[in-house]
Amino acid sequence: MAGNDSNEPNNLKSKRDRRKRVARIKTAILSTIAIWMAISIIVITLLCIKVVSLQKQIDFLTGDYDYSENVEAGVNGADAGLKLVNQTDEDIDNLAGTEDVLKVYLTFDDGPSENTNEILDILDDYGVKATFFVVGKPEEEYKGLYQRIVNEGHTIGMHSYSHKYSEIYSSLDAFKNDFEQIQNLIYDTTGVESVYYRFPGGSSNKVSNIDMSQYIQYVNDQGVKYFDWNVSSGDATSLAYTPDDLVENVMNDVVKYKTSVVLMHDTEAKDATVQALPKLIEELQKAGALILPIDGETTVIQHVTISK
Ligand code: ZN
Repeated sequence: MAGNDSNEPNNLKSKRDRRKRVARIKTAILSTIAIWMAISIIVITLLCIKVVSLQKQIDFLTGDYDYSENVEAGVNGADAGLKLVNQTDEDIDNLAGTEDVLKVYLTFDDGPSENTNEILDILDDYGVKATFFVVGKPEEEYKGLYQRIVNEGHTIGMHSYSHKYSEIYSSLDAFKNDFEQIQNLIYDTTGVESVYYRFPGGSSNKVSNIDMSQYIQYVNDQGVKYFDWNVSSGDATSLAYTPDDLVENVMNDVVKYKTSVVLMHDTEAKDATVQALPKLIEELQKAGALILPIDGETTVIQHVTISK
């Protein structure tokens, strides 16, 4: 009996100790899990940030970054004594009223490409003319594509020869050389002296703080009109838009303007653009829009202009 009496508290004590040990182990396990989760979340967040920044660099290097989203107000072209002036829809009286017939200019940048023939076939099916801002592709296989663009009544514009921002915008001389190269290539392959230009990245691009005014001045001096865009299909962003998304992006914006210049791309990688095209044309026609190629009468859509 006496043994039982003295054993009882010992038993209780060891049970309590065990419970304490178990509780300590539990706490240790839980805090380890919590710490690992916190570390994982931090690592995942850092990786996500890295991925986004790498994607931007890729887009930059391939020239497919939509710089229009980065437009800031009033940048001075100090060297040339010129001022870059941002253009708004009010400036060019381009906001559509209910009575206005919408004019839509479909523009395809960066071609010719493996997709050019298909784009031209679709435009032909619908009897629609567009504008191609082409780059320099000297290979034999592309020559016929410049010619086909022109033969089928589309407007051919220049979009630089090399499309390499770091080269084109490295100096005015480099820009001139590149400009002449693409103008000559188009002339030699099609007999057309192109009078339309689209700056790689747009006139508002802020790549490495380039002073765009000297390049704008040069293009103006050549009697060439540069066109930016006021509607973006979104096919150049890193977002994986479906063809339906692209159509929706355009349709949401074209209703706002009397004149819409729509940015799209003609490159091998942009299959969604090709797939979106038939539906886009149908929707535009349903909305009563006139689909036109850029010509001398087209309201000029420019992100920035220069003034003294
Ligand atoms: Zn481009």
